[in-house]
Amino acid sequence: MQHATGMTRIANGKLIDGTGTSSVSDAVVLIENGCISYAGPAKGAPLADPAAEQIDALGGTILPGLVEAHYHPTYFNVAALEDLDIKYPVEYVSLLAAANARLALECGYTAARSGGSLFNVDVWLKKAIEEDVAPGPRLATSGREICGVGGLMDWNPDYRKIGMEGLVLLINGPDEGRAAVRTLVKDGVEWVKTYPTGDAAAPDTNDHHTLCMTQEEMNAVVVTAHNHKMKVTGHCRATEGIKNALRAGYDTLEHGTFMDDEALEMLLARDTPVIPALQFEHASVVKGPEIGMPQAVIDGHQETLEGGMESALKIFKAGGRLGMGGDYGFAWNPHGTYAKELSFFVEQVGFSAVDTIKCATQTGAEIMGRAEEFGTLEAGKLADVLVVDADLEKNIAALEDTGNFIAVVQCGFIKAGRLAQHQPAVRGVVQ
Ligand SMILES: [Zn+2]
Repeated sequence: MQHATGMTRIANGKLIDGTGTSSVSDAVVLIENGCISYAGPAKGAPLADPAAEQIDALGGTILPGLVEAHYHPTYFNVAALEDLDIKYPVEYVSLLAAANARLALECGYTAARSGGSLFNVDVWLKKAIEEDVAPGPRLATSGREICGVGGLMDWNPDYRKIGMEGLVLLINGPDEGRAAVRTLVKDGVEWVKTYPTGDAAAPDTNDHHTLCMTQEEMNAVVVTAHNHKMKVTGHCRATEGIKNALRAGYDTLEHGTFMDDEALEMLLARDTPVIPALQFEHASVVKGPEIGMPQAVIDGHQETLEGGMESALKIFKAGGRLGMGGDYGFAWNPHGTYAKELSFFVEQVGFSAVDTIKCATQTGAEIMGRAEEFGTLEAGKLADVLVVDADLEKNIAALEDTGNFIAVVQCGFIKAGRLAQHQPAVRGVVQ
């Protein structure tokens, strides 16, 4: 990704630097050649080059670019299961994914970790973004997912003769788990996304207390993935599935919904980050009736929401790590509303804005394995910065409206927000 040249000075705003420390009022952030050279109080800040580009934060907030830690670029207005696998050909899915990536950047998300993608769309989308062919968040890729035969992601009955191979690799036993991971190695993905458990969405056969992979399968997946320097994550709702994933050595847990004391202890001992993705559950409960969601599914989402809120709070209070993100791209939880996750944590779970932003920035970068490069506003980090015309400690929901964004900065370039017209969003050169 191309770096800006020259100096930019952001001033007249409150700094929330992403480390979880208290905000700094009247702060200055200096950017030189695409990297941060200073972030701190205006008083004592180094003098900027008189030719520096000036960004006035208008008394609002300066924070790191946000990280979506469970991003599905190929989910698009998903209302039914077939929307996830066979609604569109891969060619159109690729175009939709590029549009979603642009939208995420416009929403202040300068980085995202894929939580699974149709075919290898996210692998190639990452290349396009890195080469400035298409605008979007810096990506960590996941590609196709792995699930046990008959599990949550194996929904097409055999008589339909529909292969699932574009979405998920279905396995029976550890040998097939190893084989599936080896296929993904060749795809070039960084994360192996698996399904240790079911979900409220499938109450009859694979509900949120059902296991969809065996311990042996999960062990085989992790050993093979780690051997090839890939990381492993999984959709973990049921308590036993959470423990199986932790025993197997998963690098993160998606959802981590029903944590008992033993699971929490195991999690903390391994310092494994969890991405709760609570807004999806909340939206399912609130909007379920009007979209005709079966009552059993709504009830399951309610139980999941309550369990997930309790677990997230326990994990964070005990010193565990949480990432913010989750399953945007469903009809009732669309792309472009990612910041609702942050609002939910502040308004419903009771987190402070500073803690929530830490989860959405520093921890997100840690999950991506790139905390040395971005995720906080500190000298030496890449200049991925969000400047918002609002005091986020008083109004976190201001992040939901891109009209409040003064600048979304990536590598020192203003790529979105009110000031974006002064800089080209992309080079526009297809290589
Ligand atoms: Zn997901």
